[in-house]
Amino acid sequence: CGIVGYVGPQDAVGVVLEGLRRLEYRGYDSAGIAVVADDVVSSAKKAGKLANLEKVLADRPLPESTIGIGHTRWATHGGPTDRNAHPHVSADGSVAVIHNGIIENFAALRAECEAAGVEFTSETDTEVVAHLLAAVYESTPAGEGRLAEAMRAVCQRLEGAFTLVATHVAEPDTLVAARRSSPLVVGIGDGEYFLGSDVAAFIGHTRQARELGQDQVVEIDRTRGLTVTGFDGTPAEPTAYTVDWDAAA
Ligand code: GLU
Repeated sequence: CGIVGYVGPQDAVGVVLEGLRRLEYRGYDSAGIAVVADDVVSSAKKAGKLANLEKVLADRPLPESTIGIGHTRWATHGGPTDRNAHPHVSADGSVAVIHNGIIENFAALRAECEAAGVEFTSETDTEVVAHLLAAVYESTPAGEGRLAEAMRAVCQRLEGAFTLVATHVAEPDTLVAARRSSPLVVGIGDGEYFLGSDVAAFIGHTRQARELGQDQVVEIDRTRGLTVTGFDGTPAEPTAYTVDWDAAA
């Protein structure tokens, strides 16, 4: 339902929580956040209002981090429980993923992962993306853009409508996102980047936005900036625009 991503010098948890609050108007049944710090993905997620998540975070704060993703969920596959809330983390702990939309062919992909020995912890259509991404990453040649390359390969196997945002422990300065028939906007600040399912996610931080086209993947690297491609790897230019706050509010 609501998607927020952040990479930059500020504490990610605060920025992501603020973004989730701005997206509350869309409605949701659960919420969660993940950060990457010290080569580990740490996440917190909770059914119910954001206040429930904030209580979890107060009892067990996530580590300070310069990269984070957050989600407010409107359940389609699996009830509105803590376990089914996003982010979903791969079994090996390397990948965290948030997702808006529906992966239509998730059952076949899930069966494939289970046959390979992966144990699922939720009933969502989303979780399969975390496990696939972790596995494909391992077989993708090392080097710049590895997570984006793995995301493109995974997206080519997905049917349905989706906005996905992923992080990987081996790329602590990189967010990768993808979209098909579901919106995704990038906000460009001064040495920092934002991702949102709509511009409300980063209102107050920047007016400079880029909108992704259909079947595109964006890699946001803190030092290398934005790289956008189609799912097939063809370079693409996102549409640039300046947010009009009055219209967006
Ligand atoms: N289909 C996913 C789920 O049920 C995502 C729902 C959403 O867009 O929030 O977990």
